[in-house]
Amino acid sequence: MSKINTVLGTIPVEELGFVAIHEHIGYGMPGSELDTKWWKSPEVRYEETVPKLRKFHDYAGGASTFVDATGICNGRDIPYYQSLSEKTGVHIVASTGFVGGDTALAHFARASVEYLTEVFIHEITVGIVGTNAKAGVIKVGVSRGGRMTELDKRIYRAAARAAVQTGVPVMTHLAIDAEPAIAIFQEEGLDLDRVLFGHVDDGVNHAQTPTERILEVGGRLGFDTFGYETELPDPPFWARPRKDRMDHFLRTINAGHLDKVLASADANCSPLGWPGVKGHTINYIFEVLIPDLERNGIDQSAIDQIFHDNAYSYLAQQS
Ligand SMILES: [Zn+2]
Repeated sequence: MSKINTVLGTIPVEELGFVAIHEHIGYGMPGSELDTKWWKSPEVRYEETVPKLRKFHDYAGGASTFVDATGICNGRDIPYYQSLSEKTGVHIVASTGFVGGDTALAHFARASVEYLTEVFIHEITVGIVGTNAKAGVIKVGVSRGGRMTELDKRIYRAAARAAVQTGVPVMTHLAIDAEPAIAIFQEEGLDLDRVLFGHVDDGVNHAQTPTERILEVGGRLGFDTFGYETELPDPPFWARPRKDRMDHFLRTINAGHLDKVLASADANCSPLGWPGVKGHTINYIFEVLIPDLERNGIDQSAIDQIFHDNAYSYLAQQS
């Protein structure tokens, strides 16, 4: 039986239903919760978030799962996630780890690989900050600037060790500068099929992302910024023309890599410390992406594979 940790407990992966593999309940830079200007009351956060999750659950037409790729220091809030999950019926999978070395607070930034490994394992096997909710995925990432820093590498190595020891998978924020990442995962004996290299479709970074190399070593590809498109009224700097991103995704599938791709919208239900991107929510997946895939000849079984089977095989905790 393949299991996965959600914030309300450990369940068989088959119960996850439709999976959005890379989303955020609320992402903010460390310290945003201390900024009077941006501080949001719990009521406001619920009001912004609950309708989006309810809609997502309705669209899924059964079980649905939200993988929160926020990690430590960027606004992760487990009791809040538990309450949202209870209220809406959406399974929420929390992540341990960090979006990038540059968002790890000083306490963690100064820590050794051994210490970070212990933190990740504790969050996966015991619970996250005083709760009994266990992490289901380990987040790592490349700091701003596009080159892996010494701290990024320390976090990747700790993540690899925790993944080998617990069987929980790793997901990356960005897949540029992939060689040091691949080397660390291989040195630590982590099967690259356990790594989802994220944001390979990102408007800024996709051209520098070595997807062929990632596939060659057995990694998975996260086309997880669907909806951040130049067609938006006020597009963010990482936006990309909708057709360009879709063509990239279709090319990858048609080259025989359907089993290696995952897709998501990387949207914020209620952003912390920044205004967020207007008009973009997790429900882009159902409202635009899936109809677009169908129009482009991707059949129901392939769509099911991306949002169900591929997600299950990736998320299933290996024992
Ligand atoms: Zn993200």
